[in-house]
Formats: sequence, C-alpha cells, structure tokens
Amino acid sequence: MDIMAHSLWSLVLLPGKPTIAKVALGIAPDVVVFALSLSKQAIKGKMQPGFKTRTKMMNWYHRKENKWVLNLYKYTHSLVIWTAVILPIFLYFYFVRNIIPWFLLAAPIHILMDIPTHDNNSFPVQFLTPFSKVRINGMHWSKPLIFIGNYVLIIAVFYFRLFVIRK
Ligand SMILES: [Zn+2]
Repeated sequence: MDIMAHSLWSLVLLPGKPTIAKVALGIAPDVVVFALSLSKQAIKGKMQPGFKTRTKMMNWYHRKENKWVLNLYKYTHSLVIWTAVILPIFLYFYFVRNIIPWFLLAAPIHILMDIPTHDNNSFPVQFLTPFSKVRINGMHWSKPLIFIGNYVLIIAVFYFRLFVIRK
C-alpha cells in the first residue's frame, strides 16, 4: 500500500488526536527499508532507477547487490519482529505511565493491511519472518479497484468516526 494510505489509515483507525508518532509508526515498515535503499544509491552517487513496470522493478531488487532490500523488507513487515519491538514499550506506557500508547499499533496495522494487498510478484509480506515463509498471494494495492476502494474506505471510516462515534 502507498505511504499516503498508510499514514491516513493510522490516523483514522487509532483512537485519540492525530499525531506525528502515529504517522511515523504507520509508515515505518516501508520507510526504514526504502530510505536505506535510497541512501545507499545516493552514497554510490547513483539515482534509484525509474521502473516502467513492476516486473522490471522486482528484477532490479532481485539482483545480487540489491537483494538485501527484499530481505530487510521481510523483517520490517514481520508481526513477530514488531511484537518484540513494541511489546516492552507498550507495557511500559500502560503499567508505568498509565496510558495506552495507541500509536505503537500503527506498525502492526500497516502489516495487516499489506498482507492481502501484495502479491507474490511484488514484495510479498512474509509476516511471520523469521519463523515462517508463509505469505498470501493477494490483490496488489496498485490495481485501480483496490487503490480507489482503499481511499473510499479511508474516507468512509473518517466520516464514521467524525459524525457517528464523534471521537
Ligand atoms: Zn509496507
């Protein structure tokens, strides 16, 4: 799913005011990977190549020198890894500071949304990395029906929250 949709989903789904922390955690699984990939290209003095098709893009990522991006992506899109990262912080906020740190849930929400909206040909989400290679061959988010449907859903949830539950 695109970064914009992930940011908006974090804001409309999580209780409380809109915050930078919600957006940051909501895009973290992608940003960590692609910021590193872009930085590496920049250090080498190269631009990230533009890709005409998704297949060409994936072929580029499957090259030996770029494969680390695919591997890192598996880890930043793992519910196992995120549970290990956020559980201690969650418990600290909950038991020591007596607040529910909703923003932490933005990362697992990102992954749950990516699982059915990626397919085997384009960054499939192996959400149980490193324990399992299980993945779902979903409907890619860039397909018009999914892409538009996704934003329609975001707006619907936003209105529901604003006018029905008023929170
Ligand atoms: Zn993602």
